[in-house]
Amino acid sequence: MTAPLIDPFQRAITYLRVSVTDRCDFRCVYCMSENMTFLPKKELLTLEELDRLCSAFIRLGVRKLRITGGEPLVRRDIMTFFNRMGRHLDAGALDELTVTTNGSQLERFASDLAAAGVRRINVSLDTLDEAKFARVTRWGRLPQVLRGIDAAQAAGLRVKINTVALKGFNEDELFTLVEWCESRGMDLTFIEVMPMGDLGGEDRVGQYWSLKDVRARLADAYTLTDLSERTGGPARYVRLGETGQKIGFITPLSHNFCESCNRVRVTCTGEIYMCLGQEDMADLRAPLRAHPHVDGPLEDAIRAAIDAKPKGHDFDYSRQRADGQVTRHMSHTGG
Ligand code: SAM
Ligand code: SF4
Repeated sequence: MTAPLIDPFQRAITYLRVSVTDRCDFRCVYCMSENMTFLPKKELLTLEELDRLCSAFIRLGVRKLRITGGEPLVRRDIMTFFNRMGRHLDAGALDELTVTTNGSQLERFASDLAAAGVRRINVSLDTLDEAKFARVTRWGRLPQVLRGIDAAQAAGLRVKINTVALKGFNEDELFTLVEWCESRGMDLTFIEVMPMGDLGGEDRVGQYWSLKDVRARLADAYTLTDLSERTGGPARYVRLGETGQKIGFITPLSHNFCESCNRVRVTCTGEIYMCLGQEDMADLRAPLRAHPHVDGPLEDAIRAAIDAKPKGHDFDYSRQRADGQVTRHMSHTGG
């Protein structure tokens, strides 16, 4: 038996999020600039390397794998990778294979994803207004995404919608979005926007809209019950009494659940980030490429990275002070 991945704070690492490309067919204003320079192909992990990497994590105890990007479904031959990962589901080594997508390619791929063993997907959608959708995604077209969501549901995939809360942009659609999701049997999660510097976005799109306010407005119209359910991440959920819908709130840099953090992230170049809110990372591509036929060095590098997983991000430090502890990293702000 291989020993599972346990970090220095006794958290078992069972959830891996992997970016399979930095490319995208959209240019969402809060995520990318209009003129992006993407990485040269040789920098990216090949599909074979992604397979080796994910399989190593699964051997070491990862039970849930989320594929993301960039837009994961624009990566050439990505279904080959999903099909390969399906073997881990079949073997019972992996509980869940999921994907976060902008939905643009779902019409093409939904049934293939389902055939590979994907059961649930997250689709990012900030507005149901065609003109606003074109504005916030710059290159995206709403009808194509809606057809993708239709295809996903027709293929039997459970769809959750992720909506970035943007002041002055989709505030007026709060209830429209909730009702639309309800009518289609989809859960909905709001994401607080993280300031990503100057991305050339329009000023009026991308302003911070606090999820506290989103929640308060929902509470005016619905009976909210907090759900104790935790995913080990920065999401909290409520149930709407009137509809039974589950609504999530993701505050990306929330520190409330660092104690139960069960996840790490790997970029499309094979860098592992142990904490979303910290700069700590390690290179997994070097051991992958230096040892094309044996995975021991890769597994060692994964273990070394997990051994360096921070307790939490900077917001946590105030609690450590409150506890009377001193940490060497107190002044480190990651910025
Ligand atoms: N392209 C896919 C998609 O859009 O779902 C997957 C990658 S995308 C980076 C993953 C999620 O990050 C999306 O839900 C997107 O809305 C969110 N996101 C991107 N930039 C963000 C930001 N600055 N603040 C908060 N969420 C952001
Ligand atoms: Fe970023 Fe996803 Fe939008 Fe692409 S679709 S620009 S990856 S948020």
